[in-house]
Amino acid sequence: MHPDIEKLIELQELETRIRHATGRLARLPREIAAMEERLGASRSLLDRQEAELDRIAAERRQLEGEIQIIEERISKYRSQLSDVKTNEQYKALLHEIDYHGERIGKMEDEILVNMEKEEDLREERLLLERQLQKETAQVGREKQAVRKEIEETRIELDRRQREAGALIALIDPEIYGTYRKIATVRKGVALARAAEENCQGCHVRIRPSVLGQVMGGKQIVYCDSCARILYWQPDASPVSK
Ligand SMILES: [Zn+2]
Repeated sequence: MHPDIEKLIELQELETRIRHATGRLARLPREIAAMEERLGASRSLLDRQEAELDRIAAERRQLEGEIQIIEERISKYRSQLSDVKTNEQYKALLHEIDYHGERIGKMEDEILVNMEKEEDLREERLLLERQLQKETAQVGREKQAVRKEIEETRIELDRRQREAGALIALIDPEIYGTYRKIATVRKGVALARAAEENCQGCHVRIRPSVLGQVMGGKQIVYCDSCARILYWQPDASPVSK
């Protein structure tokens, strides 16, 4: 095999790995952001619950306050009962006492409903809190794993880039320039294996004379169809169909 092609094959493999690592590095922070978003949604659910609980508790306190005021009024009416002069006045006072007593009854019913709601909400909140706790721990572990992967990928990327740089320095600059141009237009794949009389890059049949040149390994040969650099590797694994 042409010595530069041997290096270019290695370079292409390295650059494929570099591309994958770069893609991973771009993707991984988004994974962390998605985890935080998930956790944020659970937290805001808990916040909304908390606000609802506060609202109901405030409503209950308000009712309790009103009941107290009404009770004071009733006891005032009761104390006036012994002072009234006429039957009408007496009846009117009793009517007021009954009326306000009924109001208190209704408010107390409201308070009971309120308290039941509060109890349900508290139970729900407890569950949500436990769930959030679990989720927070889980996300913490996942984030740690992703951060570790980011760190490892950075190290790998750095090493591969240095390896690629060292390799490029050993390749004939003109051949490397051609490789780079083809790689740019062919999504990073500038070399294609010639196997079963086909270019494995574009799967178009290679003319026998061209195939002979590729197998000879004395010069750089291009695919007539996709313009990739062709190479011959007889002992490579068979082509999958
Ligand atoms: Zn081709």
